[in-house]
Amino acid sequence: MDIFSGSDVFAETRTLPSFDKLGYAHNRLDRDTEHRDENSLGTMVQQTQARYYLLHDDNVLLRIKDGQQTALFCLERAQKLGADMDRVILLGTDPEEDNAPRLAVPLTDQAIEALATNEEYVVEGIRAVGLKDLLPPDQLGAIAQARSLLTWHVNHQFCSKCGASTVVALAGARRDCPSCSAVHFPRTDPVVIMLAIHRDESGVERCLLGHHARFDTPMYSTLAGFMEHGETLEAAVRREILEESCIKIGAVRYLTSQPWPFPSSLMLGCFAEALSSNIQIDETELTEARWFTRQEVREMMARPAGDELPHIPGRFSIAAWLIRFWVDAG
Ligand SMILES: [Zn+2]
Repeated sequence: MDIFSGSDVFAETRTLPSFDKLGYAHNRLDRDTEHRDENSLGTMVQQTQARYYLLHDDNVLLRIKDGQQTALFCLERAQKLGADMDRVILLGTDPEEDNAPRLAVPLTDQAIEALATNEEYVVEGIRAVGLKDLLPPDQLGAIAQARSLLTWHVNHQFCSKCGASTVVALAGARRDCPSCSAVHFPRTDPVVIMLAIHRDESGVERCLLGHHARFDTPMYSTLAGFMEHGETLEAAVRREILEESCIKIGAVRYLTSQPWPFPSSLMLGCFAEALSSNIQIDETELTEARWFTRQEVREMMARPAGDELPHIPGRFSIAAWLIRFWVDAG
């Protein structure tokens, strides 16, 4: 299969799946950062249709009403529940909700304590919200943005150039240093996550999956690792696979990406052509890695998350999409 078929360089991209269940990847908010100024936050907060996501570390507040969960609250309710309004930030406006502002604000520790006894509300982990499919995909994407951005603000209260206190700018899209005039933008940490594929002399393909030391079930997944400075995407894929399994890689092909807000990564999903097949694992990362045929992977795909028998991650993770894409291609 050629990446560029004929004159249409996007031909293959047009046939890609919608990645509908891929977690955190469907944020529709219009951030409009370039048009924000010092008045944007105040203007947005005052709009009657403004709604707030209330977060506390890796958790988000949900209200259970008529069996439905909602994560968006009006200003009055946010304040009543104990939102720390001094730390509010603008995420963007929702083009499908009449451009209503969407903001994020942390809950105080005291608010979390008080909510523990309130049956109307649940403080739910952001991972669990996605895995349990509790909210629409676009809201999950906005919550991921909120989680990364709120954490960045907490960790960048002081200027990394001169040490003075920084202040929020552009409604939360930047922090400025009044002392030395440095401007600080939120960072995203790229992570490569890749499915290595080996084709043997008889043309049979197998993919490389590993069991990570941190998995508490017999789940097998793709390899992954942080990109380093001055490294191309392709070089990072080759280096990570070599480090973790001693497999040499030739061609690398990008599929899709997934924001991963713990705290601020972007997973770059790729396929990698294995040029060797003799696996030697890095035992600090993996307990096992081996080659799987499509049939073996199909059997694992049929089992649910947490199964006692070998299985793969669910569609919430980009690993699942890489694995399923390869299985479906054969
Ligand atoms: Zn400074």
